[in-house]
Amino acid sequence: MSQAKTLEMLISREQIAETVKRMARQIEGDYPAEMPLLVAVLKGSFVFLADLVRQMHRSVELDFLRLSSYGSGTESSGNIKLRMGVTSPIRGRDVLVVEDIVDMGLTTQYAYGYLRRKGASSVKICTLLDKPSRRQGRVKVDYMGFTVPNEFVVGYGLDFAERYRHLPDIYILTGGCDGP
Ligand code: 5GP
Repeated sequence: MSQAKTLEMLISREQIAETVKRMARQIEGDYPAEMPLLVAVLKGSFVFLADLVRQMHRSVELDFLRLSSYGSGTESSGNIKLRMGVTSPIRGRDVLVVEDIVDMGLTTQYAYGYLRRKGASSVKICTLLDKPSRRQGRVKVDYMGFTVPNEFVVGYGLDFAERYRHLPDIYILTGGCDGP
Protein backbone atom coordinates (compact mmCIF):
# COMPACT_ATOMS: atom_id res chain seq x y z
CA MET A 1 0.00 0.00 0.00
CA SER A 2 1.48 3.41 -0.92
CA GLN A 3 1.96 6.07 1.76
CA ALA A 4 0.26 9.47 1.49
CA LYS A 5 2.43 12.00 -0.29
CA THR A 6 3.18 15.31 1.35
CA LEU A 7 4.62 18.51 -0.03
CA GLU A 8 6.86 20.67 2.09
CA MET A 9 7.75 24.09 0.68
CA LEU A 10 11.47 24.45 0.07
CA ILE A 11 11.89 27.49 -2.21
CA SER A 12 9.24 30.16 -2.71
CA ARG A 13 8.30 31.76 -6.02
CA GLU A 14 9.72 35.07 -4.76
CA GLN A 15 13.10 33.49 -4.02
CA ILE A 16 13.06 31.79 -7.42
CA ALA A 17 12.23 35.05 -9.24
CA GLU A 18 15.07 36.93 -7.53
CA THR A 19 17.56 34.15 -8.27
CA VAL A 20 16.53 33.75 -11.91
CA LYS A 21 17.02 37.49 -12.39
CA ARG A 22 20.48 37.28 -10.81
CA MET A 23 21.43 34.36 -13.07
CA ALA A 24 20.26 36.18 -16.21
CA ARG A 25 22.43 39.20 -15.29
CA GLN A 26 25.42 36.95 -14.68
CA ILE A 27 25.02 35.13 -18.01
CA GLU A 28 24.57 38.37 -19.97
CA GLY A 29 27.66 39.80 -18.30
CA ASP A 30 29.74 36.77 -19.26
CA TYR A 31 28.77 36.95 -22.95
CA PRO A 32 29.15 40.63 -23.82
CA ALA A 33 29.65 40.12 -27.58
CA GLU A 34 27.12 37.46 -28.49
CA MET A 35 24.68 35.48 -26.42
CA PRO A 36 25.19 31.70 -26.38
CA LEU A 37 22.69 29.27 -27.87
CA LEU A 38 20.55 28.12 -24.96
CA VAL A 39 19.89 24.38 -25.06
CA ALA A 40 17.25 23.39 -22.52
CA VAL A 41 17.06 19.82 -21.31
CA LEU A 42 13.40 18.75 -21.41
CA LYS A 43 11.07 18.36 -19.82
CA GLY A 44 11.76 19.74 -16.36
CA SER A 45 13.59 22.91 -17.41
CA PHE A 46 10.76 24.46 -19.42
CA VAL A 47 9.50 26.77 -16.67
CA PHE A 48 12.99 27.89 -15.65
CA LEU A 49 13.92 28.53 -19.30
CA ALA A 50 10.80 30.61 -19.87
CA ASP A 51 11.54 32.79 -16.85
CA LEU A 52 15.26 33.01 -17.58
CA VAL A 53 14.86 34.28 -21.14
CA ARG A 54 12.29 36.83 -20.02
CA GLN A 55 14.86 38.29 -17.64
CA MET A 56 17.35 38.81 -20.45
CA HIS A 57 17.79 42.12 -22.18
CA ARG A 58 19.04 40.64 -25.44
CA SER A 59 17.58 38.13 -27.87
CA VAL A 60 18.61 34.56 -27.33
CA GLU A 61 18.38 31.59 -29.61
CA LEU A 62 16.90 28.43 -28.12
CA ASP A 63 17.01 24.76 -28.81
CA PHE A 64 15.91 21.67 -26.93
CA LEU A 65 17.29 18.34 -25.98
CA ARG A 66 15.29 15.53 -24.51
CA LEU A 67 17.10 12.92 -22.50
CA SER A 68 15.69 10.32 -20.23
CA SER A 69 17.06 8.25 -17.43
CA TYR A 70 14.24 8.15 -14.90
CA GLY A 71 11.26 5.87 -15.14
CA SER A 72 8.17 6.93 -13.29
CA GLY A 73 9.91 6.74 -9.91
CA THR A 74 12.55 8.89 -8.26
CA GLU A 75 15.73 6.93 -8.96
CA SER A 76 17.77 7.48 -12.09
CA SER A 77 18.44 4.31 -14.04
CA GLY A 78 21.85 5.77 -14.86
CA ASN A 79 21.28 4.74 -18.46
CA ILE A 80 20.82 7.98 -20.37
CA LYS A 81 18.96 7.87 -23.66
CA LEU A 82 18.72 10.61 -26.28
CA ARG A 83 15.01 11.01 -27.03
CA MET A 84 15.27 14.20 -29.09
CA GLY A 85 18.34 16.00 -30.37
CA VAL A 86 18.89 19.66 -31.26
CA THR A 87 18.13 20.94 -34.75
CA SER A 88 20.27 24.13 -34.69
CA PRO A 89 23.77 24.10 -36.13
CA ILE A 90 26.14 23.70 -33.19
CA ARG A 91 29.61 23.73 -34.78
CA GLY A 92 31.65 26.72 -33.67
CA ARG A 93 29.02 28.09 -31.31
CA ASP A 94 29.00 28.94 -27.65
CA VAL A 95 26.31 26.82 -26.02
CA LEU A 96 24.70 27.09 -22.60
CA VAL A 97 22.90 24.00 -21.32
CA VAL A 98 19.85 24.92 -19.24
CA GLU A 99 18.92 22.30 -16.65
CA ASP A 100 16.26 22.15 -13.96
CA ILE A 101 18.38 20.11 -11.55
CA VAL A 102 21.77 18.45 -11.55
CA ASP A 103 21.59 15.41 -9.32
CA MET A 104 23.99 12.55 -10.07
CA GLY A 105 25.23 14.62 -12.98
CA LEU A 106 24.90 11.90 -15.60
CA THR A 107 22.31 13.72 -17.68
CA THR A 108 24.40 16.89 -17.72
CA GLN A 109 27.51 14.93 -18.58
CA TYR A 110 25.68 13.34 -21.51
CA ALA A 111 24.40 16.73 -22.75
CA TYR A 112 27.89 18.22 -22.47
CA GLY A 113 29.46 15.36 -24.46
CA TYR A 114 26.71 15.42 -27.06
CA LEU A 115 27.16 19.15 -27.73
CA ARG A 116 30.95 18.88 -27.75
CA ARG A 117 30.75 16.06 -30.29
CA LYS A 118 28.57 18.31 -32.43
CA GLY A 119 31.44 20.82 -32.48
CA ALA A 120 30.37 23.51 -30.00
CA SER A 121 33.28 25.85 -29.33
CA SER A 122 32.25 26.13 -25.68
CA VAL A 123 29.66 24.41 -23.52
CA LYS A 124 28.68 25.85 -20.15
CA ILE A 125 26.12 24.52 -17.69
CA CYS A 126 23.36 26.51 -16.04
CA THR A 127 21.06 24.83 -13.53
CA LEU A 128 18.41 26.20 -11.26
CA LEU A 129 18.96 23.48 -8.65
CA ASP A 130 22.04 21.56 -7.65
CA LYS A 131 21.95 18.40 -5.52
CA PRO A 132 25.70 17.87 -5.07
CA SER A 133 25.48 15.14 -2.44
CA ARG A 134 24.62 12.48 -5.04
CA ARG A 135 27.09 13.48 -7.73
CA GLN A 136 28.64 10.64 -9.74
CA GLY A 137 29.60 12.22 -13.03
CA ARG A 138 32.30 14.84 -13.45
CA VAL A 139 30.28 18.02 -13.98
CA LYS A 140 31.31 21.65 -13.78
CA VAL A 141 28.29 23.79 -13.05
CA ASP A 142 28.89 27.35 -14.28
CA TYR A 143 25.63 29.00 -13.18
CA MET A 144 23.64 27.69 -10.23
CA GLY A 145 20.52 28.95 -8.54
CA PHE A 146 20.08 26.95 -5.33
CA THR A 147 21.78 24.03 -3.65
CA VAL A 148 19.14 21.54 -2.49
CA PRO A 149 19.38 18.71 0.05
CA ASN A 150 19.26 15.04 -0.91
CA GLU A 151 15.47 14.97 -1.21
CA PHE A 152 13.12 14.57 -4.14
CA VAL A 153 11.84 17.98 -5.19
CA VAL A 154 8.89 18.93 -7.37
CA GLY A 155 7.22 22.05 -8.72
CA TYR A 156 8.33 24.87 -11.05
CA GLY A 157 8.53 22.39 -13.95
CA LEU A 158 9.85 19.43 -11.96
CA ASP A 159 7.57 16.44 -11.78
CA PHE A 160 6.96 13.19 -10.05
CA ALA A 161 5.40 10.81 -12.60
CA GLU A 162 4.19 13.88 -14.57
CA ARG A 163 2.52 15.47 -11.55
CA TYR A 164 3.31 18.74 -9.75
CA ARG A 165 5.02 20.54 -12.68
CA HIS A 166 2.44 23.32 -12.45
CA LEU A 167 3.31 24.39 -8.90
CA PRO A 168 4.88 27.87 -8.85
CA ASP A 169 7.09 27.10 -5.82
CA ILE A 170 9.50 24.22 -5.20
CA TYR A 171 8.58 21.52 -2.68
CA ILE A 172 10.12 18.46 -1.12
CA LEU A 173 7.94 15.44 -1.90
CA THR A 174 7.83 12.81 0.79
CA GLY A 175 5.94 9.58 1.26
CA GLY A 176 5.56 6.85 -1.33
CA CYS A 177 8.05 8.12 -3.88
CA ASP A 178 8.47 4.61 -5.27
CA GLY A 179 5.63 4.64 -7.75
CA PRO A 180 2.97 6.85 -9.30
P1 5GP B 1 21.03 13.28 -12.98
O1 5GP B 1 21.47 12.61 -14.25
O2 5GP B 1 21.81 14.53 -12.66
O3 5GP B 1 20.97 12.32 -11.83
O4 5GP B 1 19.53 13.64 -13.19
C1 5GP B 1 19.11 14.77 -13.76
C2 5GP B 1 17.63 14.67 -14.07
O5 5GP B 1 16.96 13.84 -13.13
C3 5GP B 1 16.99 16.02 -13.96
O6 5GP B 1 17.03 16.71 -15.17
C4 5GP B 1 15.58 15.66 -13.50
O7 5GP B 1 14.79 15.38 -14.62
C5 5GP B 1 15.76 14.39 -12.69
N1 5GP B 1 15.85 14.65 -11.23
C6 5GP B 1 16.93 14.52 -10.45
N2 5GP B 1 16.64 14.84 -9.16
C7 5GP B 1 15.33 15.20 -9.17
C8 5GP B 1 14.44 15.66 -8.14
O8 5GP B 1 14.76 15.82 -6.95
N3 5GP B 1 13.17 15.93 -8.55
C9 5GP B 1 12.74 15.77 -9.83
N4 5GP B 1 11.47 16.05 -10.08
N5 5GP B 1 13.55 15.34 -10.81
C10 5GP B 1 14.84 15.06 -10.48
